[in-house]
Amino acid sequence: MAVKKEKHKMPEQDPKKRITNFDEVPFGYSPEVAIEEAKRCLQCKNHPCTEGCPVEVDIPNFIKEIAEGNFDKAVEVLKTKTSLPAVCGRVCPYENQCEGNCTLLKIGEPVAIGRLERFLADYERKKGVKPPKKTKPTGKKVAVVGAGPAGLTCAGDLAKMGHEVVVYEALHAPGGVLMYGIPEFRLPKAIVHAEVDYIKKLGVEVNYDVVVGKTILVQELLDDYDSVFIGTGAGLPNWLNIPGESLDGVYSANEFLTRVNMMKAYDFPHHCTPCKVGGIAATFGAGNVAMDCARTSLRMGAKKSYIIYRRTEKEMPARNEEIHHAKQEGVIFKLLTSPIEFIGDDNGKIKAVKCIEMKLGEPDDSGRRRPVPIPDSEFTIEIDTALVAIGQSPNPLVPESMKELVTEKWGNLKVDENGETTVKGVFAGGDIATGAATVILAMGAGKKAARAIDEYLKSKK
Ligand code: FAD
Repeated sequence: MAVKKEKHKMPEQDPKKRITNFDEVPFGYSPEVAIEEAKRCLQCKNHPCTEGCPVEVDIPNFIKEIAEGNFDKAVEVLKTKTSLPAVCGRVCPYENQCEGNCTLLKIGEPVAIGRLERFLADYERKKGVKPPKKTKPTGKKVAVVGAGPAGLTCAGDLAKMGHEVVVYEALHAPGGVLMYGIPEFRLPKAIVHAEVDYIKKLGVEVNYDVVVGKTILVQELLDDYDSVFIGTGAGLPNWLNIPGESLDGVYSANEFLTRVNMMKAYDFPHHCTPCKVGGIAATFGAGNVAMDCARTSLRMGAKKSYIIYRRTEKEMPARNEEIHHAKQEGVIFKLLTSPIEFIGDDNGKIKAVKCIEMKLGEPDDSGRRRPVPIPDSEFTIEIDTALVAIGQSPNPLVPESMKELVTEKWGNLKVDENGETTVKGVFAGGDIATGAATVILAMGAGKKAARAIDEYLKSKK
């Protein structure tokens, strides 16, 4: 039988309706559709999809089990390698990972691996997650700093190996960017809580409101634990550094999204977090963070929402799905445009942004063509809110609190191929080591570090 060339579609909320709520946009596959989609998999002998997965999920096998209707077995295969499948099934950039390697790309669309992963995770959650098996304790203790995808993955894997793991998190909730950054309509917070609960059931203890480097030092953790993993992420916003950036109404993406997601500004009056967005919002940048800001601004009441980006659509770093959803929702893309000044009114409130038109020149260090300003092409756009989403840098607090932790050019922690920092027994991974990247790469780094920590603990005997 010929293989269907396209992925099975996933039903989703109507764009006009969904910009009036914060409910999740796609609804997920039904069991019948999941089985049909799984049957598209060719079960290639060399399984190139697995090579594209930083956490080494056994993709062909879980898909095979779905195709045969063995959902419980499929969950088992999936969970051997990942403790955050519902998260990955929603936010992973599959097109650059597993799906980007799928053999079906030769004839059409890849198998919808992400959607199948999401289906399984949701199936298991609805049914009731089976408590994980506990491993015999090794007697070794590890402290994990930061409860983002890197820290949680490292903690979960170490617990599965029998080590005692305690996580120290600065905020009052776990998940890192999954909780404070990625909006509810893309990743419902109840799902993040459910996956974190599973990790806790593995035996991991999580302590909140502990700012390592201030409340407690890494050296103090090293005195109490056999090893330390640092997964503090890249939460320091980058700024445009143009005049007017301190005007009222100019937010960093981090502040804006934290107010809306973690502090639930959208749920007024149940949550009284101030965050006023009306009139015209402009987001600067074109990554996932920028798409989240632009789409959130519409849901928060903006009548018009712009993405202002200095390159073209081809160079946009956001996932295809995010760009597609933003366009469907009416976000207006002003490309080859760069801001040069924010203009305020007499009360210090932003009222406009002065921009300049750009053209693409020769490729820069990133391999993308460098945007070059076109002389005398300045123009002004009236705006009421500016959201700066041009990237984040590694959090400096932990490296600054321990001078032996060497950092590199962009403030990221220097680590070796096993994730060990320049301090013996202290490992690091995720955005704090790579700079702002992706959930799955952070999880991959957490997994690799867990293995290296295990080896280190064995060698310490
Ligand atoms: P984080 O998720 O940042 O977690 C770090 C944790 O450490 C946080 O909980 C923080 O509070 C805590 N911490 C920091 N300092 C301290 C301290 N001193 N003491 C104790 N705890 C501390 N990636 C994708 O793959 N797909 C997407 O769709 C996507 N969308 C994104 C949207 C937004 C808005 C943002 C900001 C990022 C997005 N990313 C996406 C990137 C992805 O979320 C990150 O790469 C990933 O979360 C990094 O994981 P991490 O564990 O290294 O860091």
